[in-house]
Amino acid sequence: MAEIRVALTFDDLPSLVLDAPSATCEVMDPGERRCVAQRLVETLRSASVPAVAFVNSGFLGGQEDLVRPWIEAGVELGNHTARHSSVDSLPLDVWADEVRECDAFLGAMGSTGRRFFRHPYLRYGGSPHRQAAARRFLLEEGYVQAHATAVPADWLLARFYREARDCGDTTRMRRVEERLAGHTLEVLEAAHHSLRRLLGRPAPQVLDLHVHRLAAAHLDSTLDRLRKGGACFIPLTEALADPVYQLDPTEWSAGGSWVERLAPASADALWFRRQPDRLRRWWREQCELPSQSSG
Ligand SMILES: [Zn+2]
Repeated sequence: MAEIRVALTFDDLPSLVLDAPSATCEVMDPGERRCVAQRLVETLRSASVPAVAFVNSGFLGGQEDLVRPWIEAGVELGNHTARHSSVDSLPLDVWADEVRECDAFLGAMGSTGRRFFRHPYLRYGGSPHRQAAARRFLLEEGYVQAHATAVPADWLLARFYREARDCGDTTRMRRVEERLAGHTLEVLEAAHHSLRRLLGRPAPQVLDLHVHRLAAAHLDSTLDRLRKGGACFIPLTEALADPVYQLDPTEWSAGGSWVERLAPASADALWFRRQPDRLRRWWREQCELPSQSSG
């Protein structure tokens, strides 16, 4: 079994952003938000896994102290814009203010890092010009772009989990939990093989998960499955130091994982793009099966 060095990252702290562009969060109840943060942080701490969490400071809604447990646990906080704004959704100067607003928040909270930026929706810009302007701005602000190679559709599984949970359907909740671990490992392995094909050598991966109820409840089993599959967790700085993250994508593309950006027309890129539809088909099948197992 191949060892896969991987840096773990979470987007959308305090909670998964739904229903763009109106952009509400999955967890709005203050008490539940606190539980989600605590469970994730405790799992990371007990598993001794380094992580970076990308913050949407404008969605904290008076719960600014929610980021404290992450900082205290040694999780570095990164900038994900104040209100999860894609670089294509706003005039560039307004978008830049969104980045600066989040930066000011992270500074005020005593986050010592403030080194990493991740684009919402992994959209880097809908035109080459916009993409170059955004990159220049981030560089001037001192940010390193946290490219992601392994990008599971955990956000979609979180939605299925919510549906099952709303119906009190524990059988389907368990199936989604198992699928989270299996799907995440499958995407990580695919990214590992894909980069090895591209570079002719193994390279460290950057895994992109989100903050949501499903992750809070089942991050431990997911990390366990990844470790059994050969994952060895490393800091994000170490992963991004690999030359693959300094490459300039030869073919321009608006978004997606770093693997897709480096080889957008490859069979691997196509496989990654098909994953959400594959999960939707799987979920339709789950919904057609009897919800309670007959033993
Ligand atoms: Zn996001």
